[in-house]
Amino acid sequence: MSLRPVTDRTATSSRLAGRRIVVTGGARGIGAEIARRSAAEGAEVSVLDRLAEQGSALAGELGCHFVPADLSDPSSTTDALGRAIEALDGIDVLVNNAGILRFSALLDITVEEWDTVFAINTTAMLVTTQVAARSMIAAGTGGKIVNLASMAGKTGGAGQAHYAASKAAVIALTRVTALELGASGITANCICPGYVLTDMGAATRTEEDVAEWSSYSPLGRLADPADVAGVAVFLASADADYMTGQAVNVTGGMVMH
Ligand code: NAD
Repeated sequence: MSLRPVTDRTATSSRLAGRRIVVTGGARGIGAEIARRSAAEGAEVSVLDRLAEQGSALAGELGCHFVPADLSDPSSTTDALGRAIEALDGIDVLVNNAGILRFSALLDITVEEWDTVFAINTTAMLVTTQVAARSMIAAGTGGKIVNLASMAGKTGGAGQAHYAASKAAVIALTRVTALELGASGITANCICPGYVLTDMGAATRTEEDVAEWSSYSPLGRLADPADVAGVAVFLASADADYMTGQAVNVTGGMVMH
């Protein structure tokens, strides 16, 4: 029996036709797949990332816009997102995907490591949300904000206090965004993936890890980026117009609450 999905996920519906979408951290991994799927569904896409070579290559592949940016610096983040919005002549959807993972035992984490993880996973998300929401409110057209949290933000994760806490903060930030901006026609939801096979964590991931973690899912496998990108595209589309403030698990059933 195949454990892979049997559906053809390259099929598209043009459900993002005309939508202007910015994807942070979109040069590789889940973000690149969200950019690909969004472009395939008819969106105009701009990608922000610090990986200039991979970002430019993706822009060439998709015919989309790329802005090199270091999101750990709030003023560089504000400037880069401003340039992306200008290039798209507005913004309908912000996908806050950029993130970093670090491992350290609770008693060994330094404040510097903690701040580094929070700067990218959480603070950058606050800044991009403010910039994008101001533009959406000024345009009066509403919009959608899709944030990448993690199952670690719900369950915690031994050896990942900084990462798990930053992702719990993403869930809370998403809910506050939904509460405060709903009246402006802006929805905010986040995705909580389980284990996704990307470069993140790849340096320390063994074949034994993959086998063990796969056994935690009733589906018997880990996620690939397309498993997450499809949900992001749904949340960015009109099909999700009445969803806001949600933290959606994409964990293959590893987490069900
Ligand atoms: P990845 O490392 O492949 O991609 C992350 C992207 O963010 C990269 O393109 C990177 O260059 C960019 N980025 C990181 N720091 C940046 C900075 N300072 N400035 C600009 N860009 C920066 O990881 P991924 O697996 O694709 O993860 C995407 C998101 O999904 C992250 O928020 C991650 O926490 C979340 N997530 C991943 C997993 C997983 O198992 N891979 C699980 C749960 C949640």
